[in-house]
Amino acid sequence: MIEGIEQHSIEGCSACRSALRSPGRDSVAFLLLDTLTVPVVGCQEHLEQLRSICAHTTRGPTELLEHRPAGGVPCPGCRLSSNRVEQPVIPVGDGAVAVFACHAHSSELFERFDTGLRTRQRITASLDASNE
Ligand SMILES: [Zn+2]
Ligand SMILES: [Zn+2]
Repeated sequence: MIEGIEQHSIEGCSACRSALRSPGRDSVAFLLLDTLTVPVVGCQEHLEQLRSICAHTTRGPTELLEHRPAGGVPCPGCRLSSNRVEQPVIPVGDGAVAVFACHAHSSELFERFDTGLRTRQRITASLDASNE
């Protein structure tokens, strides 16, 4: 597990902050990653960053839908979690994306994000090394 996520401040990005303050039907996006369908809330820029980082952890397509996917959210726990007040937040760059998923699926997404972030750092590091 990643520590400190829920205490993370989202001072950096006002667009994320306002999206998180009033998450409604219009601001919820759906991150599709392998078998995961996770409702997420943040600004466009940081949602896209989250998607591209998670894409490092799969060979399949990683999609961000602005509308409820056909068939809806398969997990009943994730569907219900949109009613919860406190949502875990993933720090993405200088912004933050709230995850409206059940505990199991938000943990899985955190792990994917963490893995994707490290993969990307490795890629960046090897690119730097080859430039020297
Ligand atoms: Zn943002
Ligand atoms: Zn779930």
